[in-house]
Amino acid sequence: MKTIGMIGGMSWESSIEYYRLVNEEVKRQLGGLHSAQCLMYSVDFEEIERYQHQGDWEKATDVMIDAAQRLEKGGADFVVICTNTMHKMADEVQAAISIPLLHIVDATAQAVKSKGIGKVGLLGTRFTMEGEFYGSRLKTHGLDVVIPDTVDREIVHRIIYHELVLGKILTSSSKEFQRIIQTLQKNGAEGIVLGCTEIGLLVKQKDNILPVIDTTVVHALAAVDVALENKNIEDFLQG
Ligand code: GLU
Repeated sequence: MKTIGMIGGMSWESSIEYYRLVNEEVKRQLGGLHSAQCLMYSVDFEEIERYQHQGDWEKATDVMIDAAQRLEKGGADFVVICTNTMHKMADEVQAAISIPLLHIVDATAQAVKSKGIGKVGLLGTRFTMEGEFYGSRLKTHGLDVVIPDTVDREIVHRIIYHELVLGKILTSSSKEFQRIIQTLQKNGAEGIVLGCTEIGLLVKQKDNILPVIDTTVVHALAAVDVALENKNIEDFLQG
């Protein structure tokens, strides 16, 4: 089994999910007492959030590179960044290490396409919904992407940073997400990418009419597939 190197803490509410999911999946696939061979380097999210909202992406990139290098030195065979937003600097992180990085968008695109979906609604932080780094990469996999309007993007962004990363799961916010998802459907979305690793804590498939693709689940299961050598990282690139 390969060793998964996880950059966590963004937020730790979702890092816990990654840790649980990789272990459950290794156990499901291998049985017995098997569990995931993994390392997690967990950052201080207060620092990251400050750099993000100040637009100091250079400092944020330095922290991600440092974390990835620590994981490489610690013996990780590949790296997963356990957040969508911080894939903004995925290319710089990859260039600074000699082990591969399993990109969340590549794993997500493959999961979307396996459901026969061609056009997705994307929900995430403002950085993710508006950033070239995310939507464009989905498009390189042949997918069309629709995002909420400015007002709804602010609502989603606020719920993420003021509630979900703090572990607050509110029914009123779940209803807001359902309303926004219905609007995305009217705008042609056939499925919804939960493009923030905490949204799955709030938005459940059972509450939604459209298929929901939870990037946390997809990324964690993809990491297990790579760790157990069912798949290579290049398989995700090919989509
Ligand atoms: N975990 C979130 C994401 O997937 C937001 C936290 C962050 O800014 O990294 O984008």
